[in-house]
Amino acid sequence: MTSGYRAERMWQPGNGCPVHGCRLRVARDVFDLRRHWKEKHEEIIAMFHCSACPYVAKRKYRVFQHYRLRHNSNVINGSPECIGRIEYQHNKEFIDPQPLTLEAVLR
Ligand SMILES: [Zn+2]
Ligand SMILES: [Zn+2]
Repeated sequence: MTSGYRAERMWQPGNGCPVHGCRLRVARDVFDLRRHWKEKHEEIIAMFHCSACPYVAKRKYRVFQHYRLRHNSNVINGSPECIGRIEYQHNKEFIDPQPLTLEAVLR
């Protein structure tokens, strides 16, 4: 029986999030979906603290951006000196993606 079987992957750029109950309607590309997945479908999220002030962000690159703007514009992007503490916390917006995984969606 091959009826209903589709060879293309279940998610294509421009589609919404395939997780049941998730309201993301459109993900522009793989990066967009990955970013979204980290925010909504991972139970534990990391919070990145600036090493020089109380600034904190969910995304590492935001801390680099902030650091270059506020503290040292000469620092190389991605330099570990920008990141202070990394705090892990429970994701309040978590939507359980079961039985999907990001790997399965992007395969
Ligand atoms: Zn989603
Ligand atoms: Zn700072």
